[in-house]
Amino acid sequence: MKRRTRWLFAFLATQLLGCAARHPDGLRYAQVLQGPEEPRDVTRMIREPSLDCLRQAEQHVEQPSDIYAAPLPPALRHGYADVVRNLHPSAKQVLRRTDGIWFARNIPGAAARFVPCRGRGKAVGIVLVDTSQKPLADTSPDADMPMRFWQLLGGDITVERSAASTDAIEPNHNAARYVILHELGHALSLLAGEFTLGPEQQFALGSGETFLAFSWQQRDLREPGFVPSGLAFPEWIFIRQTLDSDATWLAPGYQRPRKLDTANACTLVDKLPLAGFVTPTAASAPTEDYAELFAHAILADEGKIHPKDKYSVTLQGCPTQFMLAPYFSEGVSAKREYIEGQLGL
Ligand SMILES: [Zn+2]
Repeated sequence: MKRRTRWLFAFLATQLLGCAARHPDGLRYAQVLQGPEEPRDVTRMIREPSLDCLRQAEQHVEQPSDIYAAPLPPALRHGYADVVRNLHPSAKQVLRRTDGIWFARNIPGAAARFVPCRGRGKAVGIVLVDTSQKPLADTSPDADMPMRFWQLLGGDITVERSAASTDAIEPNHNAARYVILHELGHALSLLAGEFTLGPEQQFALGSGETFLAFSWQQRDLREPGFVPSGLAFPEWIFIRQTLDSDATWLAPGYQRPRKLDTANACTLVDKLPLAGFVTPTAASAPTEDYAELFAHAILADEGKIHPKDKYSVTLQGCPTQFMLAPYFSEGVSAKREYIEGQLGL
């Protein structure tokens, strides 16, 4: 696997534990997004984690010394200060509500993680970025990242951009920016109350009455656990296995299904957007669905993804297929309107 693909893959294979939990009263988007812009200089959010957050972050690295101690190397600080300064205003606002962004030299299985923890004030966690996987050195546009997420299914994919999205792409908005947007999506999902935190500071699924209801349903009323409502179970398991993630916490008691045959795998390209998912990663878990949708909503608001963008997808053993930008597909439209409405975009 190419190095670049490997860190992406690792980033996508986020492991989040879940358990059934009651949903808190109401959603809190307005408080999160329309609150005071403090600190006004968002680069101040690049700061050492508070004690509890540091302890939680240590769970995601091999040894505590893998987490940087202050002060950061100047080049690292300046590089990420640029990324943070260039975030979308909504993303900056979410970052201000976290305990901040910090760095590790190696995060096994991920290029970045949102680490839930009891931070300063009402903060819900930190964004921890793995610097050894060099997302800063990856200068490809953030708008390329959705395409690369599709490549995780093992195929080749290219995008023919419309003139509108080509014009909107900013050369200094690189892959690291997308990584951070995705993690901030996880943060917002907690801050706004779409998901909750369990007693061990793990993500817990809500009642299924909010965001969750668009594409997920309880698999079995007698047991907790959600599965995609618009995707056949074996196809979903195929995606999770391809992304090297385990479905057991989401769908307790699931059995490894009969192997998905190639013909079915080929049709996934059509089925994922129809089932409401913007990337295979989004279909891997409700939490990833949310983080991916948030990142897409930001890119769309910036004009970098456009309904007329054409994707060419060639999965192994499948004929080349074409699709329009999944974010604008009919299957995603209700969820798209929901997130854009909540974000005020
Ligand atoms: Zn994630």
